Amino acid sequence: MHRILIIEDEQDIADLIGFNLQRAGYEVLKAHDGIEGTETALRERPDLIVLDLMLPGRDGFAVFRELRRDPRTVGIPVIMLTARAQTEDRIQGLEAGADDYLTKPFSPKELMLRVSAILKRADSPPGNVDFSHGPFRFDKNSQKFYLDNQPAELTSTEFKLLLFLCERAGKQQDRNDLLRTVWGYSDAAHSRTLDTHMKRLRQKLGSHGAWIETVRGIGYRTAKSAP
Ligand code: CA
Repeated sequence: MHRILIIEDEQDIADLIGFNLQRAGYEVLKAHDGIEGTETALRERPDLIVLDLMLPGRDGFAVFRELRRDPRTVGIPVIMLTARAQTEDRIQGLEAGADDYLTKPFSPKELMLRVSAILKRADSPPGNVDFSHGPFRFDKNSQKFYLDNQPAELTSTEFKLLLFLCERAGKQQDRNDLLRTVWGYSDAAHSRTLDTHMKRLRQKLGSHGAWIETVRGIGYRTAKSAP
């Protein structure tokens, strides 16, 4: 059973999310401020965290940065929540490396879809351990990533995105296919999400970011051989 930590100070929302998650078969942990949230995450190491950004004690971005710095929690997928609809928050959250983002008010159904998509891709397919392409090496089981044979840190979304492109190297991948496969989105309304993740992924890959080519009007493609 997957365990999900909800870090949210608004009791009504925490209860609503918790109720829906439990009904869907997840085990739920709750924390009501940023400090308690950080401590609970480090201690319990849940499978996924739903993190509100506006929290007393320590705001959501600070909690997120701390969890990403700690090896015990670095790989845990995070869905950020905010009451503020501003695009800049969304972009800041995604650039910080959040796996997904929801603006309040959201439907519990939408959150359940996102949770299920993220956990599905975090569950490694058994038996299929390694894949490599150019300077990139993937350990699918443990979701470890190596760049030039050095361990490098990718979020689970970045891992999935790069692996998907590398497994199809040389072939252009349509934006909607990427959004559907990597994020589980069924429409193109989240185009900006893809570009934001791609920008960050390229930054992390440094000079090897050039392996990922933008195909204008279509999507992205990983080069078949060194660019
Ligand atoms: Ca709040």
